[in-house]
Amino acid sequence: MTKQGAKCSFCHKPKDQALVLISGVDAYICETCVEQAQSIIEEEIMPFQKDNKQVQVNPIDGAEISMLKPMEIKKRLDEYVIGQDDSKKVLAVAVYNHYKRITQKQKYQEEEEVEIEKSNVVMVGRTGTGKTLLARTIARLLNVPFTIVDATVFTEAGYVGEDVESMLTRLLQACDYDVSAAERGICYIDEIDKVARKNDNPSITRDVSGEGVQQALLKMLEGTDILVPPQGGRKHPEQKLVKVNTKNILFICGGAFSGVEKQIAKRINTQVIGFRGNELDKVDLDNLLQYISHQDLKSFGLIPELLGRLPVLTFLNPLDRNTLRRILTEPKNALTKQYERLFDMEGIKLTFSDDVLNLIVDKSLEYSLGARGLRSICEAIMTDAMFEMPSKEDMTEFEVTIDYAEAKLNKTKLAVLKQAV
Ligand code: ADP
Repeated sequence: MTKQGAKCSFCHKPKDQALVLISGVDAYICETCVEQAQSIIEEEIMPFQKDNKQVQVNPIDGAEISMLKPMEIKKRLDEYVIGQDDSKKVLAVAVYNHYKRITQKQKYQEEEEVEIEKSNVVMVGRTGTGKTLLARTIARLLNVPFTIVDATVFTEAGYVGEDVESMLTRLLQACDYDVSAAERGICYIDEIDKVARKNDNPSITRDVSGEGVQQALLKMLEGTDILVPPQGGRKHPEQKLVKVNTKNILFICGGAFSGVEKQIAKRINTQVIGFRGNELDKVDLDNLLQYISHQDLKSFGLIPELLGRLPVLTFLNPLDRNTLRRILTEPKNALTKQYERLFDMEGIKLTFSDDVLNLIVDKSLEYSLGARGLRSICEAIMTDAMFEMPSKEDMTEFEVTIDYAEAKLNKTKLAVLKQAV
């Protein structure tokens, strides 16, 4: 029963102008306001309540996660990533166990005593050696939501920069806000070395982008419910937070940890003194990263609690001439294959002479451009050809010769190439 003279408490429409006036405790609402409220609810909440079937991107469910065996994972990785066998093996096992851990829940529901712990990974290797490529390829193989974040943008909550929660926002965006898919995704945190503690005495200045971030990462890596702003950032304070549980999200961290070799050398030295034998002779001083241990990362400035949540540690080898040469031609989407495809679309058969390939590798090594440099060098050689060829209708073949490549490279300022990397 509505009182005489009652009106909608929201739009103040009088009772006689409303089709329906619903009464609550000391308030009324008309049908128009109910409709509006409904549409607001749909906008705000519904995207996060989608069931798996509605989601187009990466629909996964415990049972659907493609369970490749570690050897199969490694074999598939080989198609895209050259060398780096150690980290491929370690990653393949870590990822396999991780997904076994997720799916075992259904199988061993009654036997709770054995709990397989989370196998977050930390990869150490110079920049451009394939860390991101490995993480990205694994996510693609398994068809799970994947996101890459850069640890350098993180600051402790409340300071200028991004909160660590923003990585979950990106993961949610990667799977069209399907929370259950995001909760089984993979997060690659790049440049984790940049959040190392800057000095041994954190009380002198506030270390908001170092240890503060490590502390914030701790909980997330271990697995807990985190309230995530779905649109990210702090620009939308009104947005409804979404609860994401990180227990089954696999975190892969990568970093160059430049200078960590010194810590490794120091540790090996002290260990070897104890042996007094010729153990030191067996140490490969050119690639000390292969001996990396959690202890070295601790000396570098990662806090032990965080390291405890990154139990799997692996390293990537520096790229030598032979590996760079293979990267140029062998992977499924190798650079040379990409150019061949582009030219093929114009009806032109493109070939590179062997010495051109060697030249590209040499230049990349000479200017310490690494694998990323291969692309910019190729572009410098190929741009003119890509500009001219489409207009040469009678052309059916084009061989990139050493003279052609050298002429094009001489025209390019290599300083520009360096900047491009
Ligand atoms: P990082 O994350 O270690 O800095 P990336 O994975 O981003 O390096 O590598 C940069 C680029 O170099 C990749 O996109 C890829 O094209 C190439 N690359 C690097 N290492 C390899 C490798 N081992 N096999 C194939 N390509 C590689």
